[in-house]
Amino acid sequence: MTTDSSRLEIDTSKAHPARVYDWLLGGKDNYPVDEAVGRTLPPEAHDAARQNRAFMNRAVAHLAAQGIDQFLDIGTGIPTEPNLHQIVQRTVPTARVVYADNDPIVLRHAEALLVSRPEGATDYIQADVRSPEEIVRHARGILDFDRPIALSLIALMHFVPDDQDAHGIVRRLVETLPSGSHLVLSHAAIDLFPELAEQVIEQYAKGGIRLGFRTRAEVARFFDGLELLPPGLVTATEWAGPGQERPEPEESGIYAAVARIP
Ligand code: SAH
Repeated sequence: MTTDSSRLEIDTSKAHPARVYDWLLGGKDNYPVDEAVGRTLPPEAHDAARQNRAFMNRAVAHLAAQGIDQFLDIGTGIPTEPNLHQIVQRTVPTARVVYADNDPIVLRHAEALLVSRPEGATDYIQADVRSPEEIVRHARGILDFDRPIALSLIALMHFVPDDQDAHGIVRRLVETLPSGSHLVLSHAAIDLFPELAEQVIEQYAKGGIRLGFRTRAEVARFFDGLELLPPGLVTATEWAGPGQERPEPEESGIYAAVARIP
């Protein structure tokens, strides 16, 4: 695990994405500033958080069932059971998982992410997705980049607006992965429920958090050159791997997909 004392400080004067999300999921690891933002959000935001987490669960369980045993999860969030490594190690006890998040509160709770099955391994780095090379350099110490890796960016890239080169960052990450690797990505939509989305963007902005919600076409660009697995780029509640039980039909403002890197 990598720590850097200058990055450890927890700022409780300002809302943080990981803690607002934790509050939306009913977690306890948040502060009054985060709850204040959460309470101004439309009730659908709770559904979106739950649906997004359930998509992550199905997507990585599917990949583990296909034999993928290496995972790089960026924008991990405050640990919420089941965590990614718990899901995949049920199927592949030897699975190795590297987690990364830029929020010191996630580091504070990282021990929950580090309780791996003894046959496998987990690791955590506090790092920013906008420095993809730093994350990959660290991950190379734990994962074998000559064998397929699942890169998961779940509800992360809408915190990286276009002026910070969101698509370029994902491309730089994907380019480090060998053929047969996968990209798992979910992302808040601007075009599914535009009024709700605008309301969410405005309330986060008041809390000092910039969001870059995207249209379906903009989210699709993250998968350029990759092979989308069925059912393709859909909403979080519509995504299920072959043979997986479909979730209850439910409206969702989150896009989700899994793609293979050719
Ligand atoms: N992936 C988890 C958590 C999503 S909440 C899930 O889907 O359940 C988004 C997470 O991304 C938060 O934990 C936040 O701290 C993190 N995050 C936001 N911007 C980031 C950045 N630039 N680099 C790394 N992590 C970031």
